Amino acid sequence: MPQINNDSMFKISYGLFVITAKAEKDNGCIINTVQQVTQEPLKITVAVNKDNYTHDMIKESGIFNVSVLTESVPFDVFERFGFVSGRDKDKFEDFSDVARTENGLLYLTKYSNAVISGKVIAEIDCGTHTIFVADVAEALKLSDEKSVTYQYYFDNIKPKPAQKKKGYVCKICGYVYEGDELPEDFICPWCKHPASDFEPAE
Ligand code: FE
Repeated sequence: MPQINNDSMFKISYGLFVITAKAEKDNGCIINTVQQVTQEPLKITVAVNKDNYTHDMIKESGIFNVSVLTESVPFDVFERFGFVSGRDKDKFEDFSDVARTENGLLYLTKYSNAVISGKVIAEIDCGTHTIFVADVAEALKLSDEKSVTYQYYFDNIKPKPAQKKKGYVCKICGYVYEGDELPEDFICPWCKHPASDFEPAE
């Protein structure tokens, strides 16, 4: 039997991004899945979890913005955009470091070195996620600051889980489940990953 070691997935390097869309209100979430796929003409793909409100907005409107996050991004930006649902909350409330691209969508003017506007031309249903293939409608460079990587986030931005806490920690986002046993069907409330992505807290 071929073995599947989930840790091998952590060896893939990723960037981190805020993807924004709009329906009655502006919304956005954190993703790590933006790829340029072609140069001429420019096309990108993004993969978005179907549980995210932003996902439904992109599916309906066919447009989105990707703000490329930089190493200066503080943890509270991940809390704001990654750990609450836009269904319950206006994520842009009290957040003034934004502007709009020509498609009318917001992007981050701080902690971001570029914004790319996508116009969806195809969708691939991947079960928990949808991959959107998009033409690049607009692309602005905002600064020369270094883009943040997932590894950098883990090493420098994400708070270290409390060492004495008993429980299970999400390997993806750092959420700590406090309890002796992690339910098999547990879903991380922050990043929506399953129990298999948790490890015992030490
Ligand atoms: Fe998580």
